Amino acid sequence: MDPERARQLRVEMVDRQLRARGISDEGVLAAMGELPRELFVPAEVDDDAYLDGALPIASGQTISQPYIVGLMTQLLEPHPGMRVLEIGTGSGYQAAILAWIGCSVVSIERHAELAATAQARLDGLSLTDRVRIEVADGSLGRSSEAPFEGILVAAAAPRIPDTLRGQLADGGRLVIPVGPLGAQELILVTRRGEDFEERQFGGCVFVPLVGAEAYAEEAVLRSRGRWFGRFRGGRP
Ligand code: SAH
Repeated sequence: MDPERARQLRVEMVDRQLRARGISDEGVLAAMGELPRELFVPAEVDDDAYLDGALPIASGQTISQPYIVGLMTQLLEPHPGMRVLEIGTGSGYQAAILAWIGCSVVSIERHAELAATAQARLDGLSLTDRVRIEVADGSLGRSSEAPFEGILVAAAAPRIPDTLRGQLADGGRLVIPVGPLGAQELILVTRRGEDFEERQFGGCVFVPLVGAEAYAEEAVLRSRGRWFGRFRGGRP
């Protein structure tokens, strides 16, 4: 995609998809207005990079809709130097947005192929010093590096894993889509000592979090046909 065209599409995306729907954190808006999203989608669909929806990437996964990335990032209240755990690297776009803002990010992905592609993109944008990608089951978090000021889960969980609650710093924020396959609610958990305050931020649809404290792979494969068709450009 021509870089000037991409720049124009980003300006429109920020105005129409983000600001108009209540994303107001200027750091988030600036990052999403500058980071070239077209570099994070497969070349065959790069014309669609700024559409108002999720897009398919490799390994049957998706890059989230720009609005959802904006909302989740804003809920995290990111700031330079903040230590963030992201679960579900996917394309690497969400991790790159956090790094662009100045967060120090550990991002976990279960598909090695996606992790490698995301790593190459971050290298190309010189964001590698702020993001480390690990291949593992992120439903268990990352106890060796906890606590985190922010945890962002970019895949649908059947419930809020206790392990992730426990890896939040005091005052830390966990943003996670929770619910059945095909329809979740976006939840913000804020830790206050041993209390965990929960607030809901509307419906969303994510690919499943598959792991020890999440959905079992077989359950996901069985129900795949029912929920995957909901993605724009999705494929069975
Ligand atoms: N944040 C991504 C979108 C992620 S889609 C982006 O900006 O593009 C969700 C990702 O979570 C998929 O890549 C999927 O493979 C991954 N995932 C699912 N279960 C996981 C688990 N238990 N641990 C780590 N990654 C997981």
